[in-house]
Amino acid sequence: MTRIPMVGGNWKMHLDGRAAATLAGEIAAGAGGVEGSVDLAVFPPHPYLGVVSAAAGDSGVVTGGQDVSDEPSGAFTGQVAASMLVDSGCTMTLVGHSERRHGLGEDDVLLSRKVRTALDEGLRVLLCVGETLEQRDQGKTFDTVLGQVRGSLALVNTDDLACVDLAYEPVWAIGTGRTAGPAEAQEVHAALRSELGSRYDARSAARIRILYGGSVKPANAAELMACEDVDGALVGGASLQAESFLDIARAAARRE
Ligand code: PEP
Repeated sequence: MTRIPMVGGNWKMHLDGRAAATLAGEIAAGAGGVEGSVDLAVFPPHPYLGVVSAAAGDSGVVTGGQDVSDEPSGAFTGQVAASMLVDSGCTMTLVGHSERRHGLGEDDVLLSRKVRTALDEGLRVLLCVGETLEQRDQGKTFDTVLGQVRGSLALVNTDDLACVDLAYEPVWAIGTGRTAGPAEAQEVHAALRSELGSRYDARSAARIRILYGGSVKPANAAELMACEDVDGALVGGASLQAESFLDIARAAARRE
C-alpha cells in the first residue's frame, strides 16, 4: 500500500508571533515543490496558531496543536480544548510528545483520553511514542513503545485509526544531535506496524503512517526516509528554518 509521507515541524516554545508568521509564509511558499508527494504540517506554540494558519493560507500546509486537553471544556486553567484548536485553524494535534510524557509525567491513561477528545472534535492525531536511553540500554525498547501504543490507543477503534498518525521518537535522539540509524528506526517501525496489525487489522496497519523523529536533519533525512516503514519525519530543531524543513520534505517526497 502506498502511504503519502508526512513531514511535521514541532516549533516547541520557540519564536515570537512575527517570526512564526514569517516562517509559516516561507514554508507555504515552498510547499508547492512537494505538493502531492508529501503532506506538510507545522505545530507552533498555541498563541500563534491563528497567525500561522492565516500565513499558511491555502498552501496545503496544515497547522496543528502541540498538545490538547483531555477535557472538551470547563474549569481547566491553562489548558487548550480540541474545539479551540479547530477554531484557530488546526486540523491536527500532537499527543504524547516526549517532553510531555517524560518531562511532565503524562501517562497512557491521560494520553488515551486526549486522543479520544481530539478525534471526537474532528482533529487528526499525531501520537508520539519512544523509549528513554535507560529503557533502550535495558533492552526494553520494544516493550516500551508497543506498550505506549496499546495504552494511548486504548479508546481508538478501527475506523478512528484512519485519523491517526504515529511518530516514533526515541527520547535519547530528541534535540541531542544523536539519531537512530536507519536499521534501528526500521526495526521499531516494523514492530509498531505489526502490533497495529494484531490489535486492529492488516489493512489498517498497512495504511497508517509512522513518522520518525529525533534530530532529523537534511543530511540524514534521505537514509531514514528510504526505510520501508518510515513514512516521514517529525522535526524539531531543523523545522525552525524554512530551507532545512523543506529540504527534509524533499527527501521524504523522493522516497522510493
Ligand atoms: C521533536 O521535537 O519532536 C524532535 C524530534 O526534535 P529534534 O528534531 O530537535 O530532535
